[in-house]
Amino acid sequence: MVDKIKVSLLGSTGMVGQKMVKMLSNHPYIELTKVSASPSKIGKKYKEAVKWIEPEEIPENIADLPIVSTSPEDHKDVDVVLSALPNELAEDVELKLVKEGKIVISNASPFRMDPAVPLINPEVNWEHLELLKYQKSNKNWNGLLVKNPNCTAAILSMPIKPLEKMLNIKGVYITTLQAVSGAGYNGLPFMAIDGNVIPWIKGEEEKIPREINKMLGKIENDTIKQNNLEIYPTTIRVPVKVGHMGVINIVTQDDKINEEEVKKLLKNFISLPQTKNLPTAPKRPIIVLEEEDRPQPLRDLQYYNGMAVSIGRIRAEKNLLRLIVLGDNLIRGAAGITILTLELMKELGYI
Ligand code: NAP
Repeated sequence: MVDKIKVSLLGSTGMVGQKMVKMLSNHPYIELTKVSASPSKIGKKYKEAVKWIEPEEIPENIADLPIVSTSPEDHKDVDVVLSALPNELAEDVELKLVKEGKIVISNASPFRMDPAVPLINPEVNWEHLELLKYQKSNKNWNGLLVKNPNCTAAILSMPIKPLEKMLNIKGVYITTLQAVSGAGYNGLPFMAIDGNVIPWIKGEEEKIPREINKMLGKIENDTIKQNNLEIYPTTIRVPVKVGHMGVINIVTQDDKINEEEVKKLLKNFISLPQTKNLPTAPKRPIIVLEEEDRPQPLRDLQYYNGMAVSIGRIRAEKNLLRLIVLGDNLIRGAAGITILTLELMKELGYI
């Protein structure tokens, strides 16, 4: 019998938090023992504190847990703290926990670009967890901090990682069509987005190139040497509930892109989470769809419980490769990669 890893969850009542509550409810060796939310809810039962929006009932083993605060005293008896806190709160709260010796795996943006902090999308750059060997001394922290990328960077980096190895890339031109849930439960008023398209998402166009280039970087002298892929994103909010899509145009240095080879490469892409058969790892992280009108958010988010991205409309012409990627922003872009990162850390001996 494996010893269970006890975890607490900050932001447990939010959109990402609820996905994690659901995903952890029957995990083979991770046990969610503490749930946290905003100060006015401390002491309430989880089922009273949450506006539950998942179709299934609240897991029985969580429904009656009392909400705790974010302060380190409330997280003393867990092995790992998972965080789905809003970006503006995360820095102070997470830093306090890490200084007190906790291992924190977080979805929020502060520290994502810190060279001592691994920014992990498990299939893309699990090797970067090695930074944890030097983090305590580099930062003078007692605990460890690991970050997940922004949901869009997480989904886009899945095809870009293998393609970057195969092709001699000149530039990557991306237009995203991003779901409303990406902005959190209270993120966008219905009146702003219903029947509408908003051609700008605050901060996203800056985050995407820098986070992807960090994930594609290499460890050198205990730190990350960033990659320098030219990436030009335009980010658009669309009236879709869940599912971020990226229309990716890749321009290469040479004229010989083989469409069939590209499809084969993407279909066959696997990484350490697959070879180690980790519980949350999708058997195939990339599903290639041949139908002309796919992927679609209403049809293509469910592969491997939302942990795979789907790719369609793959077309090569001279030095231009075009494709469309779709992923579940709440699972593949957030909750699922937090849990998969924890599984990897256990597998590699960091927990
Ligand atoms: P959300 O739906 O707005 O949830 C925020 C959570 O934080 C709620 O549980 C909320 O509790 C809690 N919270 C708010 N103020 C608090 C306080 N003062 N003290 C303690 N807890 C507090 O946001 P989300 O969409 O789940 O996103 C969570 C994080 O994940 C963000 O950093 C976001 O950038 C990141 N992320 C989101 C997505 C996505 O697709 N949505 C994808 C990737 C990453 P109450 O219920 O009590 O207010």
